[in-house]
Amino acid sequence: MSDYEISRNAILMKIDRIAKNFDIPLDALKFCGDYIAKIDHRLLKSIDRGDGKLVLITGMTPTPHGEGKTTTTIGLTDAVNLLGYKAIGVIRQPSLGPIFGVKGGATGGGRAQVVPMEEINFLFTGDFPAVEYANNLLSAMIDNSIYQGNPLNLDPRRIRFKRVMDMNDRALRHILIGLGGIDGGIPREEGFNITVASEVMAILGISKDLNDLKERLSNIYVGLTYDRTPVYAKDLKAEGAMAVILRNAINPNLVQTLENNPVFIHTGPFANIAHGSPSIISIKLALQFADYVFAEGGFATDLGGEKFVDIVSRLGNFKISASVIVASIRAMKYHGGQKDENIEDIEALKKGFANLQKHIENMRTFGIPVIVALNKFSTDTEKEIEAVSKLLESVNVPFALSEVYENGGIGGENLAKVVVENALETNPKFLYDLDEPIKDKIRKIATSMYGAGDVVYTDEAEANLKEISKLGMDNAFVCMAKTQASLSDNPKLIGRPENFVVTVKEVHALRGANFIVPILGKINTMPGLPKEPLATKLDIDENGFIKGL
Ligand code: ADP
Ligand code: MG
Repeated sequence: MSDYEISRNAILMKIDRIAKNFDIPLDALKFCGDYIAKIDHRLLKSIDRGDGKLVLITGMTPTPHGEGKTTTTIGLTDAVNLLGYKAIGVIRQPSLGPIFGVKGGATGGGRAQVVPMEEINFLFTGDFPAVEYANNLLSAMIDNSIYQGNPLNLDPRRIRFKRVMDMNDRALRHILIGLGGIDGGIPREEGFNITVASEVMAILGISKDLNDLKERLSNIYVGLTYDRTPVYAKDLKAEGAMAVILRNAINPNLVQTLENNPVFIHTGPFANIAHGSPSIISIKLALQFADYVFAEGGFATDLGGEKFVDIVSRLGNFKISASVIVASIRAMKYHGGQKDENIEDIEALKKGFANLQKHIENMRTFGIPVIVALNKFSTDTEKEIEAVSKLLESVNVPFALSEVYENGGIGGENLAKVVVENALETNPKFLYDLDEPIKDKIRKIATSMYGAGDVVYTDEAEANLKEISKLGMDNAFVCMAKTQASLSDNPKLIGRPENFVVTVKEVHALRGANFIVPILGKINTMPGLPKEPLATKLDIDENGFIKGL
């Protein structure tokens, strides 16, 4: 059965029952049909039930298809509930970019899924469109201001804020707008980012409440005037209207697993070009109602893992009890040079283990207990599993084979036990202090997390840093943008590369989020579609049954 068929055959519980089972007050819910509800974020102000334990789900460097972090997050949530604890999973909302591109949906797989998957994957409760509209309202106000006599004296060549759309559409990366004569506006160069890279998405993901949201929106850096003075969203009086658009999107979405356990889904920043975590509000809320909260950070420890610790846990004041690194034999073979997962290849496996080992070391740098979840694929052989087990024992890391894809919660029982045994509330050790110089912060992340020997800056990046120095962002977080396919900034360097040099090509300033975003190598904030997009395989019949999901 396909993932979609499994999900269609699931017996769903009404969402109010799910909430009731976890003592989530019903009057804080806004129902979107029978199986989806929004939870009022203001609940955080009125309850203080003591915090559950937060477990970060991260991974090794993935193959292009993903190694099963979302699947493991969901399966582990079911498994820990089976052990008799209350567990809630917290994940990001899927973006349409990967759904129509290479990777597909992001609601788990096999017997470890969240439902209703077609709703979640396609537009859901409208949060992404809201982010898009709020973002693009600011863009429209910028261009309108320039058109209407330009009272702010904005230099159209120095607008830094871009429009966004939740689509892989490389044709929009660099465009000309404002054409069509006098009525068409003032022509200028513009570009689109994908919505999940929008500063508005980042802000929604880290804001505490509507006031915090508005404050952050007001500080979005728009660009420079002709005399090089920074202009912010507040100068255009945009933040109020933007917040109105986001008023529902600030509330996390409640759905369920195939085994009727709660999962919060909220915001969707990518981990390669943004901070990669579900919202702070959703994690905080989940911690109120569960003994264990499993939150997924996108991609591997060098991206979502690092950002979860250095940015999200610092902003949210979270202790982290454990980090689960999701690994697969297919990815290890891939990093050892064997691209065909159907071929048993112990040598490649042993070689590719170096990649996983680096990710284990990375999480240990933060002082957080590490557990490896070996996500079992049908192509794994007995010999390969035995070889990996020996390697994991040799580096003294607790691990378990996870069969949640095949068997749901029951298949994660061993993993659940290992996680519960090893979880230990920890104040993570951050890689950098916020008041260090920006270049020092970047160097620390690149050398310790990626294993880089050096960091170099293009002239453009140096110019960006000079511009940023005027924005009063000395204490900003660093949110690296880098390929997910390698520990380095070059997607072709598989395994555990060493002594490589990373290149900072540009640096963006998200002043509302208080993130400095260095763009490393060739990573792009507006992806493109592959030659054979998954979109060509999607279809729907007259009864609404979707094919190709
Ligand atoms: P991640 O969150 O790490 O990107 P996902 O959990 O989304 O990964 O899984 C990526 C893809 O792999 C999904 O299509 C999922 O259904 C599939 N998948 C995950 N685990 C397994 C498994 N054990 N066997 C087969 N397919 C799997
Ligand atoms: Mg995922």
